[in-house]
Amino acid sequence: MADADVAPTKKQCIGVDCPNKAGSLQCPTCLKLGKESSFCSQDCFKRSWSEHKVVHKTASTALYNPFPTFPFTGSLRPIYPLSPRKPVPESVPHPNYAKDGDPKYKSVGRNTITILDKKQIEGMRKVCRLSREVLDIAAREVKPGVTTDHIDEVVHNACIERNAYPSPLNYVKFPKSVCTSVNEVICHGIPDKRMLLEGDIINLDVSLYHEGFHGDLNETYYVGAKALADRDSVRVVETARECLNDAIKLVKPGMAFKDPGTVIEKHAKSRGCSVIKTYCGHGVNSLFHCAPNVPHYAKNKAVGIAKPGMTFTIEPMISLGTYKDKTWPDDWTSVTQDGTRTAQFEHTLLVTEGGVEVLTARMADSPGGPVEMPPEVKTDGEGAGKAADSK
Ligand SMILES: [Zn+2]
Ligand SMILES: [Zn+2]
Repeated sequence: MADADVAPTKKQCIGVDCPNKAGSLQCPTCLKLGKESSFCSQDCFKRSWSEHKVVHKTASTALYNPFPTFPFTGSLRPIYPLSPRKPVPESVPHPNYAKDGDPKYKSVGRNTITILDKKQIEGMRKVCRLSREVLDIAAREVKPGVTTDHIDEVVHNACIERNAYPSPLNYVKFPKSVCTSVNEVICHGIPDKRMLLEGDIINLDVSLYHEGFHGDLNETYYVGAKALADRDSVRVVETARECLNDAIKLVKPGMAFKDPGTVIEKHAKSRGCSVIKTYCGHGVNSLFHCAPNVPHYAKNKAVGIAKPGMTFTIEPMISLGTYKDKTWPDDWTSVTQDGTRTAQFEHTLLVTEGGVEVLTARMADSPGGPVEMPPEVKTDGEGAGKAADSK
């Protein structure tokens, strides 16, 4: 080629006011960020550091809101770019939708509820125990300053270590391995570059596919002491937790799948909260989502009666304000229409001869768990002064 023998022009050192040509020394932080910045010498690099490092901030905060004109209902915003899709090794068995995102549900008997045999029940026990382990590992990462993308990475790796596929990944094209739903997000939040903030609440919804079966559970966690001190956050989180526990007490052979909604809505209302109607509990076994449909609101028309060997979830979503939801333009993130906070808890349940087995039950060392309502903070100066002075 014609210009192959022309010597490349030597670059200028980018050190502050430096007249020299650049040497081979590159800023290591810039290299990591995929940028090139050459200095003439170590001394010049040191001398220019305080001005140069500003470049790193602009590079690493090249984050953006992908839907700048969307009328968001609360203060939460998506923070992109999303990290690239994480691969799952071929050695880990994949569910049928892993490649094209299509769960290919057969239309046969939309209302036919599968009854599992002994061996299948053992399969469900195992995947649900693994799912609990992964949720607990993820929950230990919840703290201010951690991104939801980091939590996704932790979940993804913990699944693979267990020879399990993270069920949400590419399910109807969901881009990540876990749902992370912060504050006003009801469910299906997509892990992104947003850092958790002191005072947030976050739901982690973990599902694994292992040896032919799916396990599915979620919990809501408090981010930092500020969240634990916020009475509204504690009210909605603890109400959601109690709603699930109350509903589980009903489960036994003969229970109608329309019944849990009645006790859930009654308890939510008693705490001044409302029940999200758009998303329901579901059958879960060799299919991620199947019959029965288990609504969480009263006066629903769900069909079917619980029988031993059925496995399904109950997963009430409880809001401080409206029950009405709205979906972000990412086609997944569901938020309350009034921007108020929501909380959710979910277990996978097995109907037994005598009642119910909670397949995703908490372990002795599981993070999270119920908390007490914090005391009311007096806002008037005198009251606050008195409280501080008292022995
Ligand atoms: Zn779930
Ligand atoms: Zn579920």
